[in-house]
Amino acid sequence: MRKITPQPGIMDIALYEGGKATIGGRTDVLKLSSNENPLGAPPSAQAALAEAAKTLHRYPSTDHADLRQAIGEVHGLDPARIICGVGSDEVLQFVCQAFAGPGDEIIHTEHGFSMYPVLIHMAGATPVCVPEAERRVDVDAILAAVTDKTRIVLLTNPGNPTGTILPAGELDRLADGLPAHVLLVIDGAYTEYAEGFDGGAALAGARPNVIMTRTFSKVYGLGGLRIGWGYGPRELIEVMTRIRQPFNLSGVQLAVAEAAVRDRDWVETCTALNAQQRARLVGAIRQLGVACDDSHTNFVLARFADAEEATAVDQMFQDDGIILRRVTGYGFPEALRITVGDEEQTGRVIETLTRWREQA
Ligand SMILES: *Cc1c(COP(=O)(O)O)cnc(C)c1O
Repeated sequence: MRKITPQPGIMDIALYEGGKATIGGRTDVLKLSSNENPLGAPPSAQAALAEAAKTLHRYPSTDHADLRQAIGEVHGLDPARIICGVGSDEVLQFVCQAFAGPGDEIIHTEHGFSMYPVLIHMAGATPVCVPEAERRVDVDAILAAVTDKTRIVLLTNPGNPTGTILPAGELDRLADGLPAHVLLVIDGAYTEYAEGFDGGAALAGARPNVIMTRTFSKVYGLGGLRIGWGYGPRELIEVMTRIRQPFNLSGVQLAVAEAAVRDRDWVETCTALNAQQRARLVGAIRQLGVACDDSHTNFVLARFADAEEATAVDQMFQDDGIILRRVTGYGFPEALRITVGDEEQTGRVIETLTRWREQA
């Protein structure tokens, strides 16, 4: 008898695990596991939310014209080349679904975002994982992995959970080296925290095969609302738009995102705080003899002696009511990813680490 069978790839999906939010039922915890903004969402966004609540009976705009216009103005980009999604995750889903399918390969790197294999399998395509070199994206390794079947390269830059960045020259070299049939996707979720980095906007503006994705979940403090966007060649954006549901973003999401993106003071305030506390945290971690690369994001990756030590440190943090992120699934069983908090929160992290060192 014939059975109902899922489409190719679906049963290969391992369900995504988000950062933990509670410790043994306790909710009064300091959550530093998901790279959320310690200052929350900007007041401008909260005001837009209250206003949007008055028109919940209205269907939202299907073309996202106002939000795309706002993003275009703020970032100096052509709104016709922008697509908005339910988080940048959805934009990445559009890319995979629109440009790859069964039999095609999508390259991602060893320590890249753990959503990539999920999205690749959703499209029915085959993930090809390329090693990094000492926690840095290796352009030559990516180029060497390209085959006739390759359709897309998914790159997190700056990296999560490494926090390292591929310099502009290397990014250019990667784009130059890819054949014309391969699409380079630069996932710039942490762009605002990387001083001087444009997220890949210039490349996506100049090349026929580069797309940049961005999010409102990090510096704008809107992870709970789910808004992201992509920018690239108009032809490709138009293809992706065909598989985007017309009402994928609610009126609330659109209004809040528009207010947030226009709030440049907010980005300034949050990135300044982050830079200050990040430097303080990295300095303290290294002083305690724990390895830690320079970070270009709003988190740091602290690398301990081994997995056992990371487990002990993680437990000590949990006992202190602080949730960090284990990154075993990203290839770092010996490391903990720590979101950069505000001054008081960073003080608590340093205090716990210092106490661990004194006891060890
Ligand atoms: C947080 C993050 C995102 C953002 O995803 P959203 O769906 O926009 O919330 C995208 N890519 C990476 C690598 C991230 O860490």
